[in-house]
Amino acid sequence: MNFEIKLSQRVCNIEQSASIVANEAIASLHKQGKNVINLSIGEPDFYPADKVKEEAMLAIAKNVNAYTNAQGILELRQAISKKLREENGIVADPGKNILVTPGVKQALFYLNSCLINPGDEIIVLEPYWFTYLESVKLCDGIPVPVVGKEEKGFKPTTRQIEEKITSKTKYIVLSNPCNPTGAVWDIQELKEIVSLAKAYNLLIIADEIYEKIIFDNHKFVSIASLPEAEEITITLNGFSKCSAIQGWRVGFVVANEVIIKAMLKIQQQVATCVNSIAQRAAVVAFEQTEEIKKMVQVYQQRRDLMVNGLNSIMHFQCKKPLGGLFIFVNISSLNLGSVAAASILLEKLGIGVVPGVAYGKNFDHYLRFSFTTSEENIREAVKRLTLFFGTKK
Ligand code: PLP
Repeated sequence: MNFEIKLSQRVCNIEQSASIVANEAIASLHKQGKNVINLSIGEPDFYPADKVKEEAMLAIAKNVNAYTNAQGILELRQAISKKLREENGIVADPGKNILVTPGVKQALFYLNSCLINPGDEIIVLEPYWFTYLESVKLCDGIPVPVVGKEEKGFKPTTRQIEEKITSKTKYIVLSNPCNPTGAVWDIQELKEIVSLAKAYNLLIIADEIYEKIIFDNHKFVSIASLPEAEEITITLNGFSKCSAIQGWRVGFVVANEVIIKAMLKIQQQVATCVNSIAQRAAVVAFEQTEEIKKMVQVYQQRRDLMVNGLNSIMHFQCKKPLGGLFIFVNISSLNLGSVAAASILLEKLGIGVVPGVAYGKNFDHYLRFSFTTSEENIREAVKRLTLFFGTKK
């Protein structure tokens, strides 16, 4: 081929998703007949609740085939508004403050597209979910990481955040519960972030996709529910983790009317609307409280099994995450970079994890383990690791 394709600088500047790359490498090993335990991606290994599946099948049977309202079907926006009021203490008008999107990832892209001007700075708390960074870069913004130390629960202090604020800072991104660390922000910490944001005229982007995957009866607080926070907070959430319909691609944004209108314009131009069948099914997803409760109980048991197992192995140190689907494991005594360590686990032990460096350059001595797999697989992974690295003295 003689034709030289010149890609945009923008796309050349962004990285692939580390967890998708790891997951696909593992899938290809599976196809080759290799026995690999996949602890890489954070996708629920549960099925959707029966009622959610029934609604989707009913929608197909009723020929729900047309494009929907671009903002999302009204019934779904009403169900989201009710859930926000009852569960999160957030008041959101279904007509003005809610946009249904094809997942949080796409919502982030819309949001960054309508808020960032070239050179604007966005504060991301490191370790971070890598999409926050790449999505900002894709919109010509500059991500500014603020490092959270392990001894502080991986949460940067407000003083550290303040030190990184400049005249170009536009907003602070908060993953609560956090991917990859499982950190959950308490009410006092959230209040401090709100005060800081108000003092510097910043917006807050709160990604609450793991809000229901909370352990040990810990209390989750939505930052937008705090006094004076609602007008400056954009809440992102969806059905991928708590309702286990991640492949159906439904998420939502809750924000000020001006932001919703701007994002809606982008959605009209790039997606038209979210899949009509998935929207119908999502209307009943919040009602499946028993299923969600059971799923979280299972995740908690797996978390305990994995944390206890990993902590018994030479060079592996981790704390119990309070929420989310991951364990962020310190392997500093191995004296190996995280990419090399993850390759050893994959090639020698048949265990797929994500290198810590994907979550920030200061975390190259960590590995992210997902517990979205069976107890049997977790036991087997711990057994393989123990045989290879030995147990702690
Ligand atoms: N937000 C966080 C913090 C995540 O870890 C993920 C994981 O894939 C997502 C959002 C993705 O959400 P969605 O499937 O709604 O795009």
